[in-house]
Amino acid sequence: MKILSNRIARKIFISGIVQGVGFRPFIYRLAKKFKLKGYVRNLGGSEVEVLIEGPKILVEEFIRSINIEKPRAAKIESLVVEEAAPIGANDFVILKSDKKAKLYSMIPPDFGVCEYCLSEVLDPNSRHYRYPFNSCAWCGPRFSIIEKLPYDRENTSMRDFPLCEDCMREYTDPTNIRRFHIQGISCPKCGPKVWLATTDGEKIEVDDPITEAAKLVDEGYIIAVKGLGGFHIAALATDDDVVLKLRKRKRRRYKPFALMALDIEVAQQIVEIDSKAREILESPEKPIVLLPEKDDSSVSKYVAPGLDKQGVMLPYTPLHYLLLKDTRDRFLIMTSGNKKGKPMCTDEQCAITRLSGIVDFFLFHNRRIINRVDDSVVRFTDGELTFLRRSRGYAPVWIRLPFKLNKKIIAFGAELQNAGAVGFDDKVVLTQFIGDTDEIENLDYLNRALKFFSSVYEIDPSEAILVADKHPRYASRLLAEKWAHQYKSKLVHIQHHYAHIVSVLAEKKFPLDSKVIGIAIDGLGYGDDGQIWGGEIFVASYKEYIRVGHLEYHYMPGGDLAVIYPIRMVISILSKFMEEEEIIQFLKKRNLIKGLRKGVPELKIVFKQLATAPRTSSLGRVLDAASHLLNICYERTYEGEPAIKLEAAAKNGRLISELLEIPIKTNNGKIIIQTSKLFENLVNNLHNSKNDLAYTIQLGLGLALGRVASDVATRYGIDHIVVSGGAAVNSYIVKGIKTMAKEKELTVLLPNKVPAGDGGIALGQVAIAGAKLLENS
Ligand SMILES: [Zn+2]
Ligand SMILES: [Zn+2]
Repeated sequence: MKILSNRIARKIFISGIVQGVGFRPFIYRLAKKFKLKGYVRNLGGSEVEVLIEGPKILVEEFIRSINIEKPRAAKIESLVVEEAAPIGANDFVILKSDKKAKLYSMIPPDFGVCEYCLSEVLDPNSRHYRYPFNSCAWCGPRFSIIEKLPYDRENTSMRDFPLCEDCMREYTDPTNIRRFHIQGISCPKCGPKVWLATTDGEKIEVDDPITEAAKLVDEGYIIAVKGLGGFHIAALATDDDVVLKLRKRKRRRYKPFALMALDIEVAQQIVEIDSKAREILESPEKPIVLLPEKDDSSVSKYVAPGLDKQGVMLPYTPLHYLLLKDTRDRFLIMTSGNKKGKPMCTDEQCAITRLSGIVDFFLFHNRRIINRVDDSVVRFTDGELTFLRRSRGYAPVWIRLPFKLNKKIIAFGAELQNAGAVGFDDKVVLTQFIGDTDEIENLDYLNRALKFFSSVYEIDPSEAILVADKHPRYASRLLAEKWAHQYKSKLVHIQHHYAHIVSVLAEKKFPLDSKVIGIAIDGLGYGDDGQIWGGEIFVASYKEYIRVGHLEYHYMPGGDLAVIYPIRMVISILSKFMEEEEIIQFLKKRNLIKGLRKGVPELKIVFKQLATAPRTSSLGRVLDAASHLLNICYERTYEGEPAIKLEAAAKNGRLISELLEIPIKTNNGKIIIQTSKLFENLVNNLHNSKNDLAYTIQLGLGLALGRVASDVATRYGIDHIVVSGGAAVNSYIVKGIKTMAKEKELTVLLPNKVPAGDGGIALGQVAIAGAKLLENS
């Protein structure tokens, strides 16, 4: 009797990424280890139910061990323990999934190769030796090969490769930790194959296509490699001629190329890696991480011209690892295999048509890529992890809202570096990175991705609420209107910067009635007054916002031309305090007449355009103008280029106190940060070093934004300042904002799970539309 009274039972509900990652076999083994009885089963909804029964002390130890010993790819969002009556089970078993209780399952993301699979690939005695597609419960493709749910082999492109006898034995063996019931496993006998091909797509007969490809890269050839979620272009990163050849063929003048390094040791030869950086580089998500380049790195200066950082990732498939291992440098350029502006290729036909003018050879394989997933890109902003692109490894992991949606929602995002989203229950699923949707093929991809997720999560567009940006000319908005027309569904429009701010509220799970101060800083977004916004200070909640302040408006002579050629913004800002002739003399003297094809005569046209130009409060345009004025960058050849180079130029800069303070005035009840005064001051202080000027300008802008935000926060009794928008990843600006907030003991929050740029906007769109629906219901 005494022993029985010690016997207890607990029901444990675990949710998160717990399906398709070997979680049930793990629970099974853990229970066996403690000699406990009961069962484990999938519930759907990305939830696993465990009934565990046995002596109290062991049950408690079992529960503690779940978090500590869980499989590498598993992520536990919540673990709820309930008391249960012992059922007198005499074994521990894995039960079949409960079909009736099926909620929506999370589609697992793609995981980078794990150390166990890699060691098999490198072990001559393993049957997976040199096998480029080795994977297990803890690693390998998931989302990129899924056609539909549930995640079973027959619903993935692995159905083309029936399991051989050896693999089947492992698949059905519950004691096989890494392969029992894992859908994507394969081996050299039954799995996909690689081969080398000419630019016509003709197969080249060689013993080992990967070794041969490595040899060709070492000889200076450029090779397109079919990877996990699409094609890469691989080339030597240490040879100027090769890098310049690639730039010419890809018609990519300055945009940096990403690097892939064999391992941490090799990466350490290129960039500074601290413990935080190492952790993210080696994580299962394996994103590209922007890190400070070492002074003695051997990377060609043409890989990331004018920048102080290199984007580095580690190999995330055995194929990449084997390729790098056989090369001389053990790191390579691995840039996405696309034509300028077009989406990355995912099949052989696209590669042959589009990439044959760029590369010399192809390394193909025959596993179909179902969902394109580009590499994710992260960086550290004033020490905090921030996303530039959320895709492979992260998409389509859902984000939990702090409230339940009472209708399903489909959000179309914005325009540049776009991603859409679907929302249901308390979940928001952002699509993978789509690209700039002003390009028709990317827009089509957004359309397909939203259809895919709508169908997977059973969202009927005719009953859902559609959300789009307010910009009347955004292609994503036009697409949303097309859907609204076709499905007769309701469409709402949400202001761009407001969505930026609420994306952070949602990510940080602020309760529904919270109020924050929002600082939304970016290149451009359509404002409520019809002007171009981009330097905004809001008092914001899920349901409403007040624009309390912004950066001073400046004209954008030539509209979009002023985005490409910052000189137009320089002229616009200087004209606030200088005469035309004075400006011409000044620009001539400082050798700044660049980005105007016809020189001084065009300058006069720009003066005339000022009167009718649209106006902007964009921080991006101010940074661009500063970048031009400091002779750092005269033309934007990729998004954010002048501002990114200005940030790079500020490294180790010192403060120029005369320049730091940017005046503020109040106009019609709105606080205006007078950026023209900053430029007036700047013009008089140009004798200082470029480095110190770049540093002070950016810090000063951050301080000004932080000062206004903190004052307003105090006035409204608000504790949190939220910063978002593309410029919210700038370390100096964020540092300035944080400095001012600290003085008033306010907390500053950046988005850490979704991009600060437009790739995170769809999350805000869903949250706002959802909160408004709750209010009206
Ligand atoms: Zn593995
Ligand atoms: Zn096999």
